[in-house]
Amino acid sequence: MILLKKIRVKALLFRIGVSADASCPLCQNADEWVEHLYFECEYARMCKNLLAHRLKVRLDPSSLEECNDALNLITGRFKRQVFQSLYAGLLYVIWKERNRAVWDKCIRCPEKVIEELLTDIRQRIEFVLPAKISRSNVEWFRKMMYS
Ligand SMILES: [Zn+2]
Repeated sequence: MILLKKIRVKALLFRIGVSADASCPLCQNADEWVEHLYFECEYARMCKNLLAHRLKVRLDPSSLEECNDALNLITGRFKRQVFQSLYAGLLYVIWKERNRAVWDKCIRCPEKVIEELLTDIRQRIEFVLPAKISRSNVEWFRKMMYS
């Protein structure tokens, strides 16, 4: 839904007359369009930077298209799937916090959100680690995710 830009962001709801204001619920500094929410918003940036810092990787994409391009450049199916999970998880937690801001009027600190995301992704991937995955890929995954 995010990729198709079909999520109901406030700027869209404002434009069609459903919402009284268009501001981003996470930062209040701009209208909430999909691009703002995921790539320009200060809160989203903090989450992305924290995730990159924790994993010691670069997460540069500044649009959904660039996310896609970055994923396509990763060689190896397993590594690509891990990064797909990370990107998808990042977009999902930002959407969750955005909804928390809209409905509960509170936002959790990015540190907590990212720690939870990492725990969740570690568990999910460990659970489905197919026997076919090479030892070097398993080591790569554990080194990145548990450091
Ligand atoms: Zn914002």
